[in-house]
Amino acid sequence: MTTHQMTTRPWPLLTMLCLAWQGAALAAAVATAEAPLVAIRAGKFIDVESGRVLANEIIIVRGTKIEAVGTNLSLPEDARVIDLSKMTVLPGLIDCHTHLADLADAEPLNVLQRSAVETAYAAIPNARVTLLAGFTTVRDVGVYRAFNDVAMRDAIARGIIIGPRMYVAGAYVTISQGAGAMTGLAPDIQLPLDLRYGEANSPWEVRQRIRELAHRGADHIKVLSTGAVLTHGSNPKSIEFTPEELRAAVEEAANFGMRVEAHAHAAEGIKNAIRAGVASIEHATLIDDEGIALAKQHGTYLDMDIYDEECIQSAGNTPADFLQHDQELAAAQRRNFTKAVRSGAKMTFGTDAGVCPHGINARQFAFMVKYGMTPMQAIQSATVNAADLIGHSELIGSISAGKSADIIAVSSDPLADIRALEHVQFVMKEGKVYKDENSPMAAMKDSP
Ligand SMILES: [Zn+2]
Repeated sequence: MTTHQMTTRPWPLLTMLCLAWQGAALAAAVATAEAPLVAIRAGKFIDVESGRVLANEIIIVRGTKIEAVGTNLSLPEDARVIDLSKMTVLPGLIDCHTHLADLADAEPLNVLQRSAVETAYAAIPNARVTLLAGFTTVRDVGVYRAFNDVAMRDAIARGIIIGPRMYVAGAYVTISQGAGAMTGLAPDIQLPLDLRYGEANSPWEVRQRIRELAHRGADHIKVLSTGAVLTHGSNPKSIEFTPEELRAAVEEAANFGMRVEAHAHAAEGIKNAIRAGVASIEHATLIDDEGIALAKQHGTYLDMDIYDEECIQSAGNTPADFLQHDQELAAAQRRNFTKAVRSGAKMTFGTDAGVCPHGINARQFAFMVKYGMTPMQAIQSATVNAADLIGHSELIGSISAGKSADIIAVSSDPLADIRALEHVQFVMKEGKVYKDENSPMAAMKDSP
């Protein structure tokens, strides 16, 4: 229709009202068809916000969202009922430290033997097994091939591949030859841009990298404040970014509405990052009493990967220098985890998945309980706390009206035996059932 027709032959008001009414009716019909109604009967229900266990809750899911939760809800006539009345139901789990879009290989230099596309295809199963293990969201904290994680996040969001909702870093922001760099090459080898994208060596270079990462789709920024265990030529006890560079990172990221997480093993590097205002410390291996006090004072989350030591030591091809870096650090990290829990510091669940194979993330829960958390605290670290750290408590982290329908269930009580979470039997993400061991026909077995 042209503007000329519109202006010279206005439609009678009644016709327009009829068309508007028909349009609204059609839209409502389409919305109903596209937003199926599901009622879930939950035998036990872990209310992570109150830290209580409730019985016989009903959860109403419309489309991708939770519409209502309560004990006395009547089941809508047109709702499909999912019976989890013999199970314990809890929110989809959140891992705040994964590397889904990289090769899960102990030797980072193997990245050089694969094209970016090969790496991307090889990483598809990482996303799938993570979701089917009950992790409906991850904060993915860096890739060697810049933006492989952005592409994976978007492929999952579009339904091209199966995986958790991802919040991604885009690249590692690191000093040259630092903890997030591809190191171990001869000095006359020049890497392509995507393998050195995040390298920065002054506050202004840090800001420049962050501006580009923001433009190209990062959700948050990963900086490396100290050396690393799993990097050639690195010393986990060394300081890398200076306080000036860390402050520049936090300020520049905030300009784009992003938060910063800092990899840090050494005590001074941890404190530099907390004082600079990062949202979380990753690993926090050698955090001292002053560091714990600072984290409490600043409200900084500690995201400690205390389960992967055995994977580092037992992987057949872990390079010898990595094993040397690792010596004694794991025991110190577990001791410091206990101290941090006792202090009441804010803690999240982050595994560094990729170090251990993807899909066994939930094994960390038993370590968290062994080293001082209650089972409820461990579950909260992977739900409400994780959602708060990521900055999307309105969408994820608990089973509440208005949030995304990310719901899992296990057959035994994880508060009695936390290892129940290692065998998640029901997984719903955004209202869609990806796994239902009680009802195999209902599960989305191999699609898309
Ligand atoms: Zn990591």
